[in-house]
Amino acid sequence: MAKKLKVDSTQGTLFDSAALRGPEGTEALAKLRADVKDCQRCPLHEHRRLVVFGAGRPGVRLALVGEAPGEMEDAVGHPFVGRAGHQLTRMLAAMGLQRDEVFLTNATLCRPEMNRAPTKAELEACKPHLFGQLHAVRPEVIVCLGRTAAQALLPEVQALEYMRMVWHVWEGIPVRVTFHPSFLIRPEGEGFRGHAWLDLKIVLERLGLPIPSDAEARERSARIPDLGWDLK
Ligand code: URA
Repeated sequence: MAKKLKVDSTQGTLFDSAALRGPEGTEALAKLRADVKDCQRCPLHEHRRLVVFGAGRPGVRLALVGEAPGEMEDAVGHPFVGRAGHQLTRMLAAMGLQRDEVFLTNATLCRPEMNRAPTKAELEACKPHLFGQLHAVRPEVIVCLGRTAAQALLPEVQALEYMRMVWHVWEGIPVRVTFHPSFLIRPEGEGFRGHAWLDLKIVLERLGLPIPSDAEARERSARIPDLGWDLK
């Protein structure tokens, strides 16, 4: 049975090491975080517990954008801390990266009730927050995790299979689209993990980072312990 994660509010800064680089970006990010804390730009505020601001510091080279916070994220106020987060941590480990080396955020900062996908209007309402974070962080590459993230950042959205094939651009920053980690842990998504790994290797190449062998990547990701993160 899944273990309960002890929620410790002092963990608020765990993956949030602002201030190491780029004082302007750090200030902009801190201001944005304060500004969005009580956001009521869309109906998502009615059901959320916490606004889930991005985690990471300005100046990191890679930002990853997910869909929207889930139940766990809504409870602790951090992106990607539930099951999808565990899978994402494994994907990063396969790349040779740790969570605090990247910026993680979502297309909407509030959880849609019952984990439904955000509507177009909700994505639109949250765009200034998403764009503001990315402006402050100024990563070299952005990865959209799934179609909803792509919808928030790119002008035209097609089937994921097509969007994965090419580089896109958001405000001069190259964008790659890959599968959402939640999909990859579902039975129907497991067969696509290899495809996602191909996408991530393309991202590593673009960043000029070493590309681990498949065996090395598998071994690294297997080392990430399964904490049984679950709210049940
Ligand atoms: N957790 C997040 O923070 N984002 C997602 O898209 C899914 C789970």
